[in-house]
Amino acid sequence: MKVAVLGAGISGLAAGWKLQNLSHEVVVYESSGRAGGKIKTDRVDGYLLESGPHAIMPSYNALMDALPGLGLMDSYIEAGDEGRNRFICLDGRPVPLPMGPGRLLSTPLLSARAKLRLLKEPFVAPHPDDESVAAFFTRRVGPEIVTRLIDPFISGVYAGDPDKLSVASAFPIFKGFERDGGSLIKGAVKRMLSARKNRPAGQPREKRRRNMYSFRQGLSQITAALAERLGGQLLLNSPVEEIQKKGDRWSVNGEAYDAVISTLPAFKWAALNGDLFPQNGPEYCSVTVVHLAYPKSAVKARTDGFGMLIPAVENRKILGLLFDSSLFPDRAPEDQHLFTIFMGGARNRWTTDKTLAELIEIAQAEVAGLMIIEEGMPPLFSRAHRWTHAIPQYDMGHPAAVKRMDDFEAQQHNFVLAGNYRNGISVGHAFESGLDAVERLLPKMDA
Ligand SMILES: Cc1cc2nc3c(=O)[nH]c(=O)nc-3n(C[C@H](O)[C@H](O)[C@H](O)COP(=O)(O)OP(=O)(O)OC[C@H]3O[C@@H](n4cnc5c(N)ncnc54)[C@H](O)[C@@H]3O)c2cc1C
Repeated sequence: MKVAVLGAGISGLAAGWKLQNLSHEVVVYESSGRAGGKIKTDRVDGYLLESGPHAIMPSYNALMDALPGLGLMDSYIEAGDEGRNRFICLDGRPVPLPMGPGRLLSTPLLSARAKLRLLKEPFVAPHPDDESVAAFFTRRVGPEIVTRLIDPFISGVYAGDPDKLSVASAFPIFKGFERDGGSLIKGAVKRMLSARKNRPAGQPREKRRRNMYSFRQGLSQITAALAERLGGQLLLNSPVEEIQKKGDRWSVNGEAYDAVISTLPAFKWAALNGDLFPQNGPEYCSVTVVHLAYPKSAVKARTDGFGMLIPAVENRKILGLLFDSSLFPDRAPEDQHLFTIFMGGARNRWTTDKTLAELIEIAQAEVAGLMIIEEGMPPLFSRAHRWTHAIPQYDMGHPAAVKRMDDFEAQQHNFVLAGNYRNGISVGHAFESGLDAVERLLPKMDA
């Protein structure tokens, strides 16, 4: 079977690689001059710069299982235990995020009233319908926890607006806890007990990796390894410009295929072929990523962690920052701290009117205050990258959008959709979506 895969982000590369392993003829079309999409690592002047994702959660088994076959285990690196420290900005200073129930009760991030409200969570009645993330958590744990903890978490994952995102789509695990256990706490305990019960008798608990991971030369090592295996079957600088159904087959840029897997971002669908693709895919927000480096001796705030997220009530101009040089080795010269600052997102559209130079200047002023940089110390290095369509927003219309995608696939038996706009935005989700697309396509083709 001859299959066209559209797009060479992690989802398209995963789909192409799986088809190749199953000995199908595959051609992967990529409009830009490099594979990887949002995964973008650059080595510049002794710094390793991630302009997209920085680290992957170890819980995505399909990706973890693929790493040895891709020859990546020698370069695999995990964030040290320090990397599990996360900070939340409170009155302009980093305060550790409480990681356990005991710490939650003692944290200065929450008032005594908010902590008491949390104790009521197991007794709050469940709600059967979808709600916004803000409405769901306000109902379950109270407004202050939403403002101080949930809001910055949403900025960190989706750069999104908690009043608009759908909890069922953006955080299905929490909605699942409520549905299955009646509350977040009871649902989490129930799931843990059921995992324990389903473990075969006598089998010891699998030692799970807990820390986020990357590779010595950054996350682009994954996409480079996949691209290398695809070899001449990956066409760079080859934008898909025309796609048409021709009888039972498809024509992509004039070439005939038995089937198509599209991983093109949903915002591209209308311009490419508005009559073909499902209508009204998710909206995307813009995010600008700024890198700044300072001498370690000039930084007086705590840097022993993953980074700091900033609640909207703090009225800052940045969403948060990662402490790259604390997270993984060799990200910057030994005596320097490298920070990655995130700006923009669904609630800060003003950033799209600013030049990159202006955004670097704003980021610099914010970081100088937040990280207590020695007065007058300029960064030793600065650079910025803007993603105009960075992250799809799973808003309240998302379940209906996913239904339209499912209906589309049911109608077009040899055309399937994969990518981060459907069932999860992380690198692990996107990788799985590429593999799953192949799994859905092949039985249809045999039928
Ligand atoms: C700033 C940022 C930080 C992030 N941080 C994390 C993180 O720390 N951890 C995590 O797990 N996830 C993170 N993510 C999310 C994750 O990186 C993405 O969701 C994932 O990489 C998307 O993969 P994809 O293949 O679905 O889409 P994309 O990477 O967008 O790939 C789509 C590809 O299609 C190509 N294309 C577009 N139009 C055409 C055309 N006409 N013809 C041919 N090709 C075309 C594009 O050039 C691109 O290569 C982050 C995302 C961003 C933007």
